[in-house]
Amino acid sequence: MNTVPEIFASKVFDDRVMKETLPKEVYNSLHNTIAEGRELDLSVANAVAKAMCAWATENGATHFTHWFQPMTGITAEKHDGFISPDIDGRVIMEFSGKELIKGEPDASSFPSGGLRATFEARGYTAWDPTSYAFIKDKTLCIPTAFCSYGGEALDKKTPLLRSMEALNRQALRILRLFGNENVKRVTTSVGPEQEYFLIDKSVYEKRRDLVYTGRTLFGAKPPKGQELDDHYFGAIKPRVQAYMSELNEELWKLGILAKTEHNEVAPGQHELAPIYSTTNVATDHNQLTMEIMRRVAAKHDLVCLLHEKPFAGVNGSGKHNNWSLSTDSGENLLSPGKTPYENAQFLTFLVATVKAVDDYQGLLRLSVATAGNDHRLGANEAPPAVISVFLGDELNAVLEAIEKDAHYDGAERRRMRLGVDSLPAFTRDTTDRNRTSPFAFTGNKFEFRMVGSSDSIACANIMLNSAVAQTLEEFADELEKAEDFDSALHELIRRTICEHKRIIFNGNGYDDKWIAEAERRGLLNLKTTPDAMQLLIAQENMAMLTHQRVFSEEEIRSRYEIQLENYVKTVHIEANTMLNMARKEILPAVSVYSAKLCENAEKKSGFGCKYEKATAERLSALTDEIYSAAAELEDAVARLDSISGITEEAFFVKDEIIPKMSALRFPADKAEELTAKEYWPFPTYGEILFSVK
Ligand code: ADP
Ligand code: MG
Repeated sequence: MNTVPEIFASKVFDDRVMKETLPKEVYNSLHNTIAEGRELDLSVANAVAKAMCAWATENGATHFTHWFQPMTGITAEKHDGFISPDIDGRVIMEFSGKELIKGEPDASSFPSGGLRATFEARGYTAWDPTSYAFIKDKTLCIPTAFCSYGGEALDKKTPLLRSMEALNRQALRILRLFGNENVKRVTTSVGPEQEYFLIDKSVYEKRRDLVYTGRTLFGAKPPKGQELDDHYFGAIKPRVQAYMSELNEELWKLGILAKTEHNEVAPGQHELAPIYSTTNVATDHNQLTMEIMRRVAAKHDLVCLLHEKPFAGVNGSGKHNNWSLSTDSGENLLSPGKTPYENAQFLTFLVATVKAVDDYQGLLRLSVATAGNDHRLGANEAPPAVISVFLGDELNAVLEAIEKDAHYDGAERRRMRLGVDSLPAFTRDTTDRNRTSPFAFTGNKFEFRMVGSSDSIACANIMLNSAVAQTLEEFADELEKAEDFDSALHELIRRTICEHKRIIFNGNGYDDKWIAEAERRGLLNLKTTPDAMQLLIAQENMAMLTHQRVFSEEEIRSRYEIQLENYVKTVHIEANTMLNMARKEILPAVSVYSAKLCENAEKKSGFGCKYEKATAERLSALTDEIYSAAAELEDAVARLDSISGITEEAFFVKDEIIPKMSALRFPADKAEELTAKEYWPFPTYGEILFSVK
């Protein structure tokens, strides 16, 4: 077998390959373009395309595709052959610079939220040279951004790149104020920890709900769930180990730095974490990771469930978005420094982030809002739907001392004067309280824990980057005018802490008391997608996003439509699946079983028949309930058709359909508990959760 360094990035047209295969001037020019985020010119593109084509065909590729991330949430690709007729009737493999930098997929069936009328259905894809091309299944995939001909973004990558640019602009202004003249670029880095479930294919195929919706819509609690905490970090089963090994290898070939793997809290639940990288690359890699996870699972007769809440009453899956800011010279701006100046700079970026989270809570919340994630947030296992920032006791004490201009009660008692005093060395807070926070500072990065496991991390990072860019801009505007930088900075930081400390919460986020306290503090508690989405079109949020040039107003409105449409469609499919399962599987099975019980009772007449009679009676009552609840759900689903306007539809789904789905589930799960095993029509929670031996 090949060693890891040999296979790592073997399918990636990365810097090393470029250096080897490109003429020196071309390499330098491309390298500068990538490093400085500039536009590429066509002569360079032609030379790169030629080398890329040669490398790809040598490595077995026959096709190429512009690989992009439309608003569907998954990635899209349309394959074109490299093959081209030669004059002598033979063929050559070729690919031009134009084909590399621009593609024109027929875009009419991708969601655009009204941005692109179908008569002008075309959009174009443009190469993002900061994310390397790679080979997947004999196809050279070129990471691209996807826009309409009017220039409006139709994907998740374009606004992500714009938000990174916005942050870069403002962070550079701050660094200049600290006398930092050499830094050319500030980028955000992300390491997304991905949670998932693995179940056996045979149980999956017997469950229509898993097949159609990715989650179970029925299912009574198993006798053993996650109560014993014996799965977390437990020994990994051989079959899972084999899966993880192959997964790692496939990811490594694509240059994805998969690093840690362990069991998670629930049975059958696991986690994979990569080493962090630049946000757009991390986003591409996370999309690829999810795709490869599913694919490798199939090879092992397993199914990888990426849904946020595959099983009610069992921990759901999230994606922890570890986020930091760093300079092109490798300095992490969220890392506390050693000198007083470094400390002041660190505190500036820290409080700017705190302020950004407070000012734009709504945007952060809605950036992770999906029908799936609504089941998870606030369910006493995932962060609550209320956003707050965790800093830990020691760092919190530092901020309090600055705010009150008081003595800092650290190892040595003293006042903190920014730009003059050094920060006391503090250690990272790793208490359990930290783990319950939606947005925690973990030493040199923030961890945004609300992202759903199946979601792209693009949206969360778009909002985070834009919000921080906005606060940095306000800081820079104020500080650039200051006569005495040190005292202006001190005052700014003190004031920011004072104005935004309501968002800081270092206690237990799962505690109900916190929700009441958050309300007193005036923090938002947006429990569902329709509620959260209203904040996207709120005046102050639209103003910020357009001001940062991340979205145009039309783009925002189109995204509002798309996200709500997605919510409505998802729940609609779930409701229909429930009706189908209730009528075609559950009711017939329970009816047959009840009849069997009655038949047995008759046969046994003269003997005691308490069990048969009482059970048949309870099951009959439950089937009546299921029958009526199904009729009510069906009626609500039918009424959905007559509602117009996406906002109205979404609220109808939330207020009418979802409660009726719960009302149908309840008696069905009760019936499951009373029905004999061989009569129940599909695998139970216990059988699914413990299906991988
Ligand atoms: P934790 O113990 O907090 O989970 P880890 O060191 O295990 O921290 O890292 C978790 C994730 O955070 C990994 O994906 C890691 O690469 C990422 N990470 C570490 N440092 C940074 C950073 N400076 N910026 C962004 N992500 C980071
Ligand atoms: Mg973590």
